Amino acid sequence: MSGHMNPEEFRRHGRQVVDWIADYLAGIESHPVMSQVKPGDIRRALPPAAPERGEPFEAVLSDLGRILLPGITHWQHPGFFAYFPSNASGPAILGDLLSGGLGVQGMLWVTSPACTELETVVVDWLAGLLGLPEHFRTDRAGGGVIQDSASSACLVALLAALHRASGGRIAADGVTRRYTIYVSSQTHSSLERSARITGLGAAGVRVVDVDPRTLAMDPGHLRALLDRDETDGAVPAMVCATVGTTSTTAVDPVPAVGELCRERGIWLHVDAAYAGVAAVCPELRWLNEGVAEYADSYSTNPHKWLLTNFDCTVLWMADRAPLLDALSVMPEFLRNPATATGSVVDYRDWQVPLGRRFRALKLWAVIRWYGAEGLRAHIRKGVALAQELASWVSADPGFEVHEPHPLGLVCLRPVWPGLAADAADRATMRLLELLNASGSVYMTHTRIGDRVVLRVAIGGVATERRHVEQAWEQIRWEHAALSATLP
Ligand SMILES: *Cc1c(COP(=O)(O)O)cnc(C)c1O
Repeated sequence: MSGHMNPEEFRRHGRQVVDWIADYLAGIESHPVMSQVKPGDIRRALPPAAPERGEPFEAVLSDLGRILLPGITHWQHPGFFAYFPSNASGPAILGDLLSGGLGVQGMLWVTSPACTELETVVVDWLAGLLGLPEHFRTDRAGGGVIQDSASSACLVALLAALHRASGGRIAADGVTRRYTIYVSSQTHSSLERSARITGLGAAGVRVVDVDPRTLAMDPGHLRALLDRDETDGAVPAMVCATVGTTSTTAVDPVPAVGELCRERGIWLHVDAAYAGVAAVCPELRWLNEGVAEYADSYSTNPHKWLLTNFDCTVLWMADRAPLLDALSVMPEFLRNPATATGSVVDYRDWQVPLGRRFRALKLWAVIRWYGAEGLRAHIRKGVALAQELASWVSADPGFEVHEPHPLGLVCLRPVWPGLAADAADRATMRLLELLNASGSVYMTHTRIGDRVVLRVAIGGVATERRHVEQAWEQIRWEHAALSATLP
């Protein structure tokens, strides 16, 4: 075996691969949700060095099934309730395949005009579907762009915010002043990493208190922190409000936070990585409250709950100029007439890397396949199942459910009569271990008010009512069995 795969071979193996994926998804319930391998098991089963001579493609597929599959945690399994969903869907998988087939690198408009222009159209479509403001659209001052992750979206927003706060001087001078950013204790860890990457460090991050019940950011404390920093000569550069926190889907009060940002000219980024896409449903449009009036940038992840395979985060800006000014560098080898006219979008200026994949294809395929009504139906199903689960939990005296739970995540705390907080938390973690070892579900945990709770995140493509019912039965059963062994 040597040389390139010819078109006939590609056709044959391509069909095998598509069949493999279809069989995998059709039979996914036969696998334990969470991989049961030990560290190093997979590595040891693979050869330590690369082959000298090429091998048939069948050998790759065979090892995939034999060696790798046991080391896979099945994110598309209907019993996957961990973290947040990472939806894969037929049209998205095929859209990604087409992107690979075209093999386009869309750093500049000229390197594939359709790659850029489809992306512009699709992110504008999505802004419309989610009811986001007109000024986020690319034919206005703003514009959207697909990023690889919400973490990158936050970093890029912070670069734009620092550019604006420094009057553009940061590009030449670097971080010469004490810039500060404001997050809450519930904000995603990517913000702290963005602070490290931009050189602000942990010293530049202020943690705003949250309401102890709802876990939403306290605007009164934000005001106090801003006053103190401004008095001390720091330069507040950005506030990050979260719509749907990772831990519990808490929603920060964007209008009140935004008002403070506007008064003081501070950049407001709204991180709606998980929850933002739910605004495709009119009854959940309240998630966008304050975004039109106050957000300088806003991001959400179709790759979590909107049926689009990882990776696909969309970042929109109210005004794209600070971002482009912050990130444009024009080396000679990228100069071209289209860019010189200023009449085209070059998305390389909207992100950290130069190169970029044709990700718009899969989002386009998803939106066209499902239509707005199909997208709404998917979100509604996840929300309805979560509400049903929450009603069962709150009706059971053996459990407490964290309120509110407006979306697809339910956080629940088993009650362990007679156990002090520490011992009860250990019992909850033991319960989680037993559940995840069963192979039929995978859940994670978090802490609320210093107590451990189980997180059940519903919204997988294959998850039906019966899977949620089974999961709840199993939680109750394991809780009862474990309770019986406790003193
Ligand atoms: C999941 C999540 C992120 C990180 O998303 P990535 O795309 O994996 O970087 C950021 N913020 C919130 C609120 C999230 O839930």
